[in-house]
Amino acid sequence: MTNVTKHSTAELQAMDAAHYLHPFTDHKDLGARGTRIIERAEGVYLWDTDGKQILDGMAGLWCVNIGYGRTELADVAYRQMRELPYYNSFFQCTNPPAVKLAAAIADIAPAHMNHVFFTGSGSEANDTVLRMVRRYWDLKGKPTKKTIIGRVNGYHGSTVAGASLGGMSVMHEQGDLPIPGIVHIAQPYWYGEGGDMSPDEFGLWAARQLEARIEELGEDQVAAFIAEPIQGAGGVIVPPVTYWPEVKRILAKYDILLVIDEVICGFGRTGEWFGSQYYDLKPDLMPIAKGMTSGYLPMGGVIVGDRVANALIDDGGEFFHGYTYSGHPVAAAVGLENLRILRDEKIVDYVKNEAAPYLQSKIAELAAHRLVGEVRGVGLLGAIELVKNKATRERFAEKGSAGSLCRDLCVRNGLVMRAVGDTMIMSPPLVISLAEIDELVKRIRLCLDLTAEQLGI
Ligand SMILES: *Cc1c(COP(=O)(O)O)cnc(C)c1O
Repeated sequence: MTNVTKHSTAELQAMDAAHYLHPFTDHKDLGARGTRIIERAEGVYLWDTDGKQILDGMAGLWCVNIGYGRTELADVAYRQMRELPYYNSFFQCTNPPAVKLAAAIADIAPAHMNHVFFTGSGSEANDTVLRMVRRYWDLKGKPTKKTIIGRVNGYHGSTVAGASLGGMSVMHEQGDLPIPGIVHIAQPYWYGEGGDMSPDEFGLWAARQLEARIEELGEDQVAAFIAEPIQGAGGVIVPPVTYWPEVKRILAKYDILLVIDEVICGFGRTGEWFGSQYYDLKPDLMPIAKGMTSGYLPMGGVIVGDRVANALIDDGGEFFHGYTYSGHPVAAAVGLENLRILRDEKIVDYVKNEAAPYLQSKIAELAAHRLVGEVRGVGLLGAIELVKNKATRERFAEKGSAGSLCRDLCVRNGLVMRAVGDTMIMSPPLVISLAEIDELVKRIRLCLDLTAEQLGI
């Protein structure tokens, strides 16, 4: 069997069921429904092995920022693979694409961030964060500062450190996580957890959980606070406008590091290069991945602010951390070409000035739908809350049932949206045209109608 043998959909599904353990999957359920096999893609569209066309409202997994089918990335990968397919950056070595990519990323990052540590994924980036943060405080002569504060329902990856920094209870339950030295505070999820507070009040309340936890633990124990600018996997949770300014006020009072996980928000998703710029944050570390290569090859990294970089460089000696594929030349060449395209085609400006305002105004109209409790979003991120009762925010009896029903109806009707419980979320490629946004919203509306019908409301 070679990779050019042509198999039928049924044959592929049978082999898949027999051999392939998928990420985040209930395999009994998968076996019962059968997998959908995505075979090719172009622009914002996918095609499965039955020839069905699907609009990819998730850009793969939040990553295919420049859209599918950009042959320039294939060409640079081909050329780089022939010239130098692999070499490591250990032992006083480096390679041209990795060097150039580090410089190019430093160029678009906030001014005080000038170094990049490369990894193979976002999870590895967050493992690096944990190591780097603790190393930093050791070097500063404050070895008791070990604890990292994350947030409930945050997502920072699926390795042991990533899952521990994240606040996904289902992940914690399956692995005796989090590991020691990681604690979680409430998330700024007003629609789900704001109760009787106004969004502004709730934003302040959620931010002040950070201050309360720092006080409770003692500043001398706390190393860092880690958060996504906008929670992605947790359900595209856009914090109330009061949240980030209050967090900034609190962080200014205490000497702890700020880690802003840019794995989703980085590389243009919010209409700025990074979510930190959207919210005017000054992080010490920014884990990145996903849009870094538009998903064409796996790659991640940590953008390191001067404060931490200087400590590592000047006082650190050897930092015993790194990966075989740190600074992989082919992935780096693809990342560099991806950045060139984002820059030359002014895609981030397009998001900010055209696509995001248009998408947000179009999905806002869906708030009037009888099944919809709230619509929210920033840039090309959007969320639609499905509820039984718009006035009381009452959900359908079995949590997630409306969401998974809607998600399945979406796929059947040619649209990928993800369901997080009963929250439908979207994150289309940044290059989606305004006409394609119309098509996206038309399909969403159809699927909301079908979902409401099936739920009998
Ligand atoms: C996807 C994601 C990660 C993990 O990245 P992987 O490449 O899947 O390891 C980390 N943080 C955030 C915010 C993510 O969305």
